[in-house]
Amino acid sequence: MAQSERELREAIVDKARWMNTSGLNQGTSGNISARCGDRMLITPSATAYEAMTPDMIAAMPIESDDGSWEGPLKPSTEWRFHLDITRGRPDVGGIVHTHSTFATVLAIANKPIPACHYMIAAFGGMDIRVADYATYGTKELSEAALRALEDRTGCLLANHGMIATGATLDKAMWLAVELETIARQYYHSLLIGGPNILSEAQIADTVKSFGTYGLQDPDKVV
Ligand code: 13P
Ligand code: ZN
Repeated sequence: MAQSERELREAIVDKARWMNTSGLNQGTSGNISARCGDRMLITPSATAYEAMTPDMIAAMPIESDDGSWEGPLKPSTEWRFHLDITRGRPDVGGIVHTHSTFATVLAIANKPIPACHYMIAAFGGMDIRVADYATYGTKELSEAALRALEDRTGCLLANHGMIATGATLDKAMWLAVELETIARQYYHSLLIGGPNILSEAQIADTVKSFGTYGLQDPDKVV
């Protein structure tokens, strides 16, 4: 059952608060969006998540590029990549951007995450790429992110953070947690001599079985 706009707004606020209390994100860094018909709902810019309410979430038309929005507060400065991903990837219903520590450490070191754990398959292929550095909030950053996300559900952003996408906001947040986890695992494996990398065949097998694995959607369980 599709969530109503009210439910989506509440879910965005809940998730934004949770990502800070869980330690996945900190301060007013990061942002969250969800597709809502022909509009995208997105967290407002530089607003403390504890003080955020559903009415503060900005709404932007998906087919417009001029940055117009409805709501009492300016949308996230990263509305461009949220909008470009939402428009370019009809499979994406939710997007989470965080500055989670281990993903960001690897992004600072410009290290893509290789197939060091089978969970890389949840991101669509053999690696999680690093999008080229560009100033936050720019069209250039959005274009770099879209390139890094080709055939992938997540990417790192050089010297910045990470993006996770999902068919739903729940799935996007699930993947954001998985991305931070694999980043932490890869980082630690580098400290003890480096990872053993899984083969393309091993990841292809996992990608196949991941067609039926992941956060369960009660509407889709057969
Ligand atoms: P906003 O507060 O504008 O969403 O920006 C936070 C951020 O992470 C920028 O990259
Ligand atoms: Zn950011």
